[in-house]
Amino acid sequence: MNATAPQIVVRCPADGRVVGHVPDMSADDVAAEAERLRNEQVEWEAIGFAGRRRWLGLFRDWLLDNQDRLHRLIREETGKAWGDLSMGEIAVAVDVLNYYASHGEAFLTSRSPRPHSAAMITKKLTVERRPYPLVGVITPWNAQIANAMLDIPAALMAGCAVLSKPSEETPLTWVEVVRGWREEVGAPRVLGCVTGAGHTGSAVVDNVDMIQFTGSTATGRRIAARAGERLIPMSLELGGKDATIVCADADLERAAGAVVWGAMHNAGQICVSVERAYVEAPVYEEFVDRVVGLVTQLRWGMDEPGEFATDYGAMLTASQLEIVESHVADARTRGATIRTGGRRAPEGLFHEPTVMTEVDHSMACMREETFGPTLPIMKVDSIEDAIGLANDTPYGLSGSVWTRDERKGREIARRMNAGSVNVNNVLTNVFQLPVPMSGWGDSGLGSRNGPEGILRYTRPQSVISERVAFKSELYWYPRTASRAKAMARLTRLVGARDWRRRLAR
Ligand code: ADP
Repeated sequence: MNATAPQIVVRCPADGRVVGHVPDMSADDVAAEAERLRNEQVEWEAIGFAGRRRWLGLFRDWLLDNQDRLHRLIREETGKAWGDLSMGEIAVAVDVLNYYASHGEAFLTSRSPRPHSAAMITKKLTVERRPYPLVGVITPWNAQIANAMLDIPAALMAGCAVLSKPSEETPLTWVEVVRGWREEVGAPRVLGCVTGAGHTGSAVVDNVDMIQFTGSTATGRRIAARAGERLIPMSLELGGKDATIVCADADLERAAGAVVWGAMHNAGQICVSVERAYVEAPVYEEFVDRVVGLVTQLRWGMDEPGEFATDYGAMLTASQLEIVESHVADARTRGATIRTGGRRAPEGLFHEPTVMTEVDHSMACMREETFGPTLPIMKVDSIEDAIGLANDTPYGLSGSVWTRDERKGREIARRMNAGSVNVNNVLTNVFQLPVPMSGWGDSGLGSRNGPEGILRYTRPQSVISERVAFKSELYWYPRTASRAKAMARLTRLVGARDWRRRLAR
């Protein structure tokens, strides 16, 4: 890293304390790191799947052995509740590493298809998935390890080098993870990290062969435009406004528990957070009562490591807290009832867990991404209405449905405009590694997880060789009438599907 670069000061959002610095890297710094990674990638691809699997395994072991230390770092730079942050970050990383280490090779197996027609019978065909040499992975501030590790293991397993850039708001933990890969695991230097703000991210896009981005839709559009100019492929996981639909026959105890967790986990700062609920009229009052009952018991704030004294912690940025406040204020002004919560804390970037009813689609809280510990709940007369309202959004990340009739749940799921839908659960789609997670509409392009999650980092390379090499072929030079006639005959013989045409002169 460039020691003379200007520094970014990292503060804990719970109390504003300075917890570290990272360099704000320039485009030249990024280009230099990209070149180093490209050089290392050649050998990384050459060591093959078995060699790469070994390093991924050692990386997994290092993450497991350093869990507590990494959790403390996350806590410092995010002000997250200890219980909240220790629930997923390392577990996700380990799971994804193991998944692609086990299945990556099979997903990328070379193929040798047979020639498709009798005229091509002399060809030997092979198609191999070759890695994009350098993949960029740009992440936001809401999950310090999991965000990156949902996408990086597949790229490494595919044989790519990875140039990562954590958010300038919370870069410390990820910088430490990449240092661990290099210095403590001692792995090849194919996982790089640059730090800085938007301009550093934009230099990443300018230097890589494929870009994976997780973050806001606005930034995603800018990255897509630049990737379009450079003609590099991209995979984008952007904002969401995930809806949950509670049918009259739902198990309300389970539904309420899950929806509260899905809306409040990490102070609502996850892309697949439950952002709004539609509940059928017969169970509306009971569902709201249950939700309010659970939400009023939630404890928020930044607790000590190992204390488990709070359920969720800080909003990670002041501007994000302002968005939450503005959505609550807008709902209030337009006639919503605040059933519980509704205010920011007097100190630190915290917001009370908030449940709102008497909400409608004129309100920002039902249409725009809130990304906070809020849950607006709307009563609906029918499932048709619920589906119509759930789909009244430009986003399409994920969603959920609650019913005791699993078949009905799946039918409702199919009618929701979202890349994944959970029936009788929330958020779990992200962790089902065999199936793709893709954002529709303004929620993204491409997908992670499953075979698609690794195929996106590769491009097909076909090699066509000749089993029999004649001195000349029919369609080469010279052009003669007899060759043209032979060609026409061959076209009929091979192409026609009836004997009259096949044999016609
Ligand atoms: P948020 O973190 O609020 O979701 P962004 O989507 O802007 O907000 O940020 C996500 C990541 O994208 C961060 O790492 C940020 O530095 C980076 N970033 C911001 N602007 C650009 C850009 N123009 N090109 C590439 N990366 C960017």
